[in-house]
Amino acid sequence: MNDENTGLSGRYDAIVAAEMRHRAKMEAALNRAAVIFLSQKEETFEAIMTAGIREIADEFNLDRFSIWRNSRHPDGLHGGQIYRWDRESGGTTVPTKGLEDMAYPKFAPRWENLLGSGEIINSPARILPEEALLKSFGCVSVLITPLFFNNIFWGFALLEDLRNERFFEDDDIEMLRSAAFLCANTVIRADMEREIADANEFNSAILDASPLGFTIFDNNAKVIGCNDTLAELLKTTKKYYTEHFFEFMPEYQGDGSKSADKAIELVKRTLNGEKLVFEWVLSTSSGEPIHNEVTLVRAMHKGKYVALGYQYNLQERKRRERELARAREAAEAANQAKSAFLANMSHELRTPLNVVIGLTNLILEDERLDKNIMENLEKINNAGTTLLSLVNDVLDLSKIESGKLALSPVEYHMSSLLNDIITLTITRLGEKPIQFRLDITDDLPDKLYGDDLRVKQVLTNLLTNAVKYTSEGSIELKARCVREGDTMWMEASVSDTGMGIPRESVNNLFLEYYQVESKANRHIEGTGLGLPITRKLIELMDGKINVESEYGKGSTFSFRIRQGFVDDTVLGADVTEKLKSFSYTDNKRIVTQKLVRANLSYAKVLVVDDMQTNLDVASGILRKYKMQVDCLTNGQAAIDRIKAGTPVYDAIFMDHMMPGMDGIETADRIRALGTEYAKKVPIIALTANAIQGTDKMFYAHDFQAFVTKPIDVMEMDAVLRKWVYDKNRESAISDTPSTVDDSEEKEIVIEIPGVDTEKGLSLYAGDTGIYLPLLRSYIANTPATLEKLKAVSAENLQSYVITVHGLKGTSAGIGAEQVRAQALELENLSRSGDLQNVLAKNGKLIADAEALVAAIKERLQQYDCQNAKPRLKAPDQELLAKLGECCENYDMSGIDEVMAELDKADYEEGADLVEWIREKIVVSEIGEVAERIKTIRN
Ligand code: ADP
Repeated sequence: MNDENTGLSGRYDAIVAAEMRHRAKMEAALNRAAVIFLSQKEETFEAIMTAGIREIADEFNLDRFSIWRNSRHPDGLHGGQIYRWDRESGGTTVPTKGLEDMAYPKFAPRWENLLGSGEIINSPARILPEEALLKSFGCVSVLITPLFFNNIFWGFALLEDLRNERFFEDDDIEMLRSAAFLCANTVIRADMEREIADANEFNSAILDASPLGFTIFDNNAKVIGCNDTLAELLKTTKKYYTEHFFEFMPEYQGDGSKSADKAIELVKRTLNGEKLVFEWVLSTSSGEPIHNEVTLVRAMHKGKYVALGYQYNLQERKRRERELARAREAAEAANQAKSAFLANMSHELRTPLNVVIGLTNLILEDERLDKNIMENLEKINNAGTTLLSLVNDVLDLSKIESGKLALSPVEYHMSSLLNDIITLTITRLGEKPIQFRLDITDDLPDKLYGDDLRVKQVLTNLLTNAVKYTSEGSIELKARCVREGDTMWMEASVSDTGMGIPRESVNNLFLEYYQVESKANRHIEGTGLGLPITRKLIELMDGKINVESEYGKGSTFSFRIRQGFVDDTVLGADVTEKLKSFSYTDNKRIVTQKLVRANLSYAKVLVVDDMQTNLDVASGILRKYKMQVDCLTNGQAAIDRIKAGTPVYDAIFMDHMMPGMDGIETADRIRALGTEYAKKVPIIALTANAIQGTDKMFYAHDFQAFVTKPIDVMEMDAVLRKWVYDKNRESAISDTPSTVDDSEEKEIVIEIPGVDTEKGLSLYAGDTGIYLPLLRSYIANTPATLEKLKAVSAENLQSYVITVHGLKGTSAGIGAEQVRAQALELENLSRSGDLQNVLAKNGKLIADAEALVAAIKERLQQYDCQNAKPRLKAPDQELLAKLGECCENYDMSGIDEVMAELDKADYEEGADLVEWIREKIVVSEIGEVAERIKTIRN
């Protein structure tokens, strides 16, 4: 028994001992696996899993070990194999294909409840309801243990024996459950790490791709990382930058602070919670400075503050700014070139227009003119005026476009504005059977504040169109004013019973150069600029324009503009009635009121202009006032004249653009002479330059006024009244009839080979009184010019340019088209330094010009014979003496009288002298004439 007992107990002990050994072995295996799983000494996840599971599998005779994870789907809970270890394949393999995602209800309907409630499944497969499933992948016995994390049914571990049918023992199960948990934990952690790594990679990819440089500092202000952008910018690697942060900044920043100290200070301030934005200079590995804007912010990383620095490279922005500045400069230069071009162009166009309009106006005043000539002259005058308004329109438009059109508001009278417009409109109506009505009320304000000229322009444009596009019926101008605080809204409309505008064209009316296509207005002059300018002017005055039109019936253009309120006085019944009745007088052309010129014979004025023609026009207009008008062709002469102090001029009319010293400099120098007279004498600019701002410029240079060319006689009259007219002196003179000789030379036909006399004459409105002296001057002066041209060489090519330029001008002035063209070509050639071609073509120019001079001379001799004057031996000595005296006293009327006497005869000797005197007088070099006469007489 004992034996037996002993034997029994010994066997039992042995079994227990064996059992305990087995258990200890199992525990040891589990511990080893735990160490492997938890310490993660192996390098990769795969290696950890393989090594860890092998410890368990060997000890517990497992052939396969897989981890399954649950996921919630619309059709219920799914389980999917996410990890599989397989003895057969010698280690870890990827999840079995087709088992990655299986719906519990489909593949093992019991498991969801069973495992979900914490039960395990421990059995040979053969006796399980899931036998078919398990057998399908070769499973013989199985231990399935659910996995819970945070009390959630996370998934299960499937431990398989592919050889023996068995139930796992309870003790083993306990340990296998721990092993399964460890294993799943490792899978989960690996997953998380992978996700974190992915996220990190994603973050750094974003950071690296960012256009901003990026630096991260730890809480000791030490750099711990940067992005690719910054490394590339600094031409280094991330690692090198991180380790040698201070090498990538110049020693000092722009504000003189030491870079390293300042960097640490700024990072520390950020770590203390400040958010900083500042400019910072970095330097590349090669020492090139790079301007940055840095934003420093604080963030939390692993429970500690870090500072994040974002560097925005200003280099690019600075470059772009520089580029923009350059582009702006270029645009401004182009714009300036355009303005200059327009200024020049307007100058060039206005100068001949000056001649056309100015001279025709003068001639038209002569009532003795033949009716035919009068009519033709009127046509020329009208054409000139049209052309001038076109030039003005183009200028206006370009000024508006370049934003240069500024309003010049003044206080103005409504009555005079309306009066001017009515007068103009009635003039335009001519003989057309159109009734013009004015619809105004007597409560219109008497005064407004605004740019009356621009308001007039708007109304004139609309009324001109109404007249142009209406052949009969009526035109009505309606005006009202509505007060709103300091604003007076002027609301006006122009209605006509004209041709109207087709509906489809109405929207295009305000496009530049747009004209309604229609047979009916094919013969009507226009450019399509009027309405765009009108609209832009209205918009400039904060207003709007509106059109209503019915094709074939008529149109109404209405608008409102902002004007300033001045006071409460109104037009009143009387003025309103007068204005209205004025417009109701019969629609015949009202002859423009004749200008009544004051007698200014007590006054002396000086005109300075480099162009003889302009001098002729200006002095022609001024002489009508019986003034002494002296002319000079350059600024220096004017300064000398004023410096000499005699005669004392009442005003100086000064051309703006002159070669050498221009009008402005001349005026400045005159003022600088310092005498009371030089400081005070009114200087009035004559300018063909209508670019915005010239008025200010003139005033800034101490001009008293300016008159635009073509000279408007009314404008000139106003200027003279203001600056020259003197009541006291007027009363002292007896109103003698004009001494100006108005007689014109007889109409003649002049034919000269090489000269387009018609063209030449047309420059002076057909005035042979101007043209013939010019021809005489041409033949007198050209030979000397040609002598100079003959001497052309490499050394004097520059002065050749000037001389040939002069010949071009004088030839153009008489209509010598061919010589002008040749001279122009040679001017261009010499300007470009092409001596060879100059030499090749100079000879022909000289020969042709000489032939021309000869031809003119011959023709003039014929002419003189036909108009033969008495032939005297020499100029009368008495007359010369008188002339000398007049010259010494600057007595211009006296000089004119003597010259007229001298001109009555031809002279055998001294003809050159008379010619010379005449030229000197034209350019007002009267002192020289006095000198010469003195020497002759002594
Ligand atoms: P322009 O009259 O110089 O051609 P505008 O810009 O003043 O240029 O006018 C543009 C076009 O609008 C004109 O060509 C004309 O066809 C049309 N138009 C303007 N006003 C009227 C009007 N009152 N009645 C009919 N058509 C008009």
